[in-house]
Order: sequence, then C-alpha cells, then structure tokens
Amino acid sequence: MTQEHLEAYAGKGITGLLVNIHETSTGQLYDAKMLGDFCRREGLLFIIDAISSFLADPLDMTDISADAIIFSSHKAMALNPGLSCVVLSPRAYEERILGSDIKVLYLDFNNHINDMTRGQTPFTPAVDIALCMNAMLGSICEGGIESKIAQTREVALDFRRKIEALENISLPDFPLSNALTPLVFSDDKASIVHEILYNEYGLMLTPNGGELAKKVLRVGHIGNHTIAENDEIVSAIAQVYDRSS
Ligand SMILES: *Cc1c(COP(=O)(O)O)cnc(C)c1O
Repeated sequence: MTQEHLEAYAGKGITGLLVNIHETSTGQLYDAKMLGDFCRREGLLFIIDAISSFLADPLDMTDISADAIIFSSHKAMALNPGLSCVVLSPRAYEERILGSDIKVLYLDFNNHINDMTRGQTPFTPAVDIALCMNAMLGSICEGGIESKIAQTREVALDFRRKIEALENISLPDFPLSNALTPLVFSDDKASIVHEILYNEYGLMLTPNGGELAKKVLRVGHIGNHTIAENDEIVSAIAQVYDRSS
C-alpha cells in the first residue's frame, strides 16, 4: 500500500480507517506511520488490528497517532486463545466513547471502562488466560520489549537468509513482518510440499487457501522458535526437492 492508494480516498467524507497492520495471509507489513499521518490529516479514527504483529514488529501507538490497537492472547504472547485486548487513545475515548449512547450488549466500551474503575469486568472474562497474560507480559517487560522483538527478528532474518539457497522458492518483494515468512513457490508445489513435510517429516507449515494454496506456505517465527528449527525446516524442504529431481 502506498501514499497514492490512500490519496484516492482523501476528502471523501470517510470517518475511520481499520487496518490489519500485518496481513497474516501474505506476510505483508503495512506502513503504520504513513497510515497514521493520513488519518490525522483527514481526521479519521485510526484503528489497528495488530494481532499478528504485536510483539513481533515495533509499534508505538503515540508515534503513529493510533486511536485503537487490538491484540490477542494467542499470537506472539503464545497463550491459549480466548482473550483479546483493545488499547484506546485518550482522544478516541474522549471523543468517540465517553458520553456516547450507542446501545450495544457486547463490547460496550463505556461499560468496560466504568467497571475497570472498580476493578470489575462486565462479564466473566477468561480468568485463567488473564493470569497467564499477566505473567507473560511481566516476563517480556523484564527482558524489554525491544529485546523480544529483536529475538523474533533474528529468527526471521536467519530463516530468510537460509531459504535463499532453495531454487524454487522466493520471498515477496513487499515489506515483511517479523512474525512470519511467506514462501512463494514458483513451481506451484506449495500444497504438495506441505503434505510431504507433514506426513514424512512431522513438520507442519501453515498452508494458504484459495488462489494462494499452490503458491504460498507460511513459516511462523513468533513463540518459542529457534535457529536450529530453521535449519531443520530448510533442510527438509531441500530434501523433498532432491528426492523428486
Ligand atoms: C490471527 C489473527 C486474527 C485473529 O483471528 P482468530 O480467528 O481469532 O485466530 C485477527 N487478525 C489478524 C491480522 C490475525 O493474524
């Protein structure tokens, strides 16, 4: 996505922009600063689904003038699914939430925020995951968020360097998140390779659907992944090709 794409929507009376900052199906990482600048200039509410980018890529809410950031327990925090968080800017709260009389049963921010002041939630949350998230965030903060992101980046860059040796696989030329690497198969063998890796090597890479099913497999780097696992995956893919040639 470029500035040009955005300019087509300038001055059109649009009131908000929602972006999945890392498009998880393709690996593309969008330019949050560019989007934030556009939103400020045009007076748009800027909402970011950062679920698969949170803790994998740098994201400074103030720096990019974001109004809301959404993340979940089950991506880079590597916890069970079941808990999502929304971080709101003071501006989003004051201008769009406080005093609003929109009637919604589920996810009424005023309800949540009023309850927070007395240490409560409107409904029973996933208590076990909240406890795990508290512990996980504590341990991440101890080492520093930058260091957590740097670790993931190191594993991602190492993997991308090693995969370059494989002939039938390339990487897209758009900017990538550190969260995963999309492998583009020039010979349309993505689903065949996926099947062999799973059945014969016990390796489960993430397949794609639709048009990308034969073209793209994804390798995640968030969670407890190591450089040694990169070697294992690259060597298994190389073996699949060696056997068939
Ligand atoms: C994983 C993900 C979600 C959450 O989807 P689930 O169905 O809850 O797993 C939302 N947005 C993005 C960009 C994601 O990568």
